[in-house]
Amino acid sequence: AAKGDGRGVHRFYRDELLEGAQYRRQLEDDLRQALKQNQLHLAYQAVVSTADERIVGYEALLRWSHPTRGFVSPAEFIPVAEECGMIEAIGEWVMRTACAEAATWPEHVRVAVNVSPIQFANPALPSLVTSALATSGLPPRRLELEITEGVFLNEDASSERMFAALKRIGVRLALDDFGTGYSSLGYLKKAPFDKIKIDQSFVRGAINESNRNAAIIKAIVTLADTLGMETTAEGVEQQDEIALIGELGCSHIQGYVYGKPAGAEVVHEQLAQPGGKAIAVGFKTSRAQ
Ligand code: C2E
Ligand code: MG
Ligand code: MG
Ligand code: MG
Repeated sequence: AAKGDGRGVHRFYRDELLEGAQYRRQLEDDLRQALKQNQLHLAYQAVVSTADERIVGYEALLRWSHPTRGFVSPAEFIPVAEECGMIEAIGEWVMRTACAEAATWPEHVRVAVNVSPIQFANPALPSLVTSALATSGLPPRRLELEITEGVFLNEDASSERMFAALKRIGVRLALDDFGTGYSSLGYLKKAPFDKIKIDQSFVRGAINESNRNAAIIKAIVTLADTLGMETTAEGVEQQDEIALIGELGCSHIQGYVYGKPAGAEVVHEQLAQPGGKAIAVGFKTSRAQ
């Protein structure tokens, strides 16, 4: 709006707010349709062992192809799904679909599924996991649940009971996005994690031998090693970062360098490579999902 035109400025902001609320309502409605009309699918991104470059698993990542808006990022619609109560239904679909898909992979290849703190707070989660495993025939050790520190925000005994119930089933647990947020070391004490995923912000395009990111990664790895946990460096994009991440002691690498998240058919192609090894393609030439 023009300078001095108070009403114009006012209207501009008010319209934008209205548009925001409408957009949001529309997104909720569309999300309800998306599940019914099969607009959701999963993309899978390889998790690679630094020791021998073998693919040890895939992370399942939710994708939504909206009929008119096109690709909507999970970073945008997952929070909406959490707030409007749809995350339970979506999360169940993700769990069942990912387990069924992983059951078609070689026996040593795992699948990682992201679990929202809202799902984690639901006492029905263990029975969903058990049911998804039984229906698909996937052994529990091949399923890894990725949770964020959001699950610790409700300080009560129920999260400890949930961890115990999930460990009894025999699935693996990973702490996602470690190093962002509060990242209290107390979280590592409270929960029986099998793996720590070091957040991309310490990794992506920003590490060299002498900088602070490298020092932080090293410290996290040392801690994880002592606690008997694996470490995955997230967001590795460049080929020359692979060796450095290895030197810093991370047991696993996940990032565009080994391919962007891709459809189930691409997973089968990748797993057919000699020795089950990943091919470092680098960010620029990697196959888009
Ligand atoms: P996340 O679990 O930390 O997943 C990793 C994100 O990093 C993915 O983004 C992945 O595509 C991206 N990524 C991987 N390697 C690279 C890289 O080398 N460079 C860059 N720039 N990015 C990389 P995506 O798929 O957009 O997912 C974003 C977030 O949405 C996830 O973060 C997760 O928190 C959430 N999310 C995705 N799928 C699900 C789901 O099924 N359930 C729940 N609850 N959350 C999900
Ligand atoms: Mg994750
Ligand atoms: Mg992450
Ligand atoms: Mg994340």
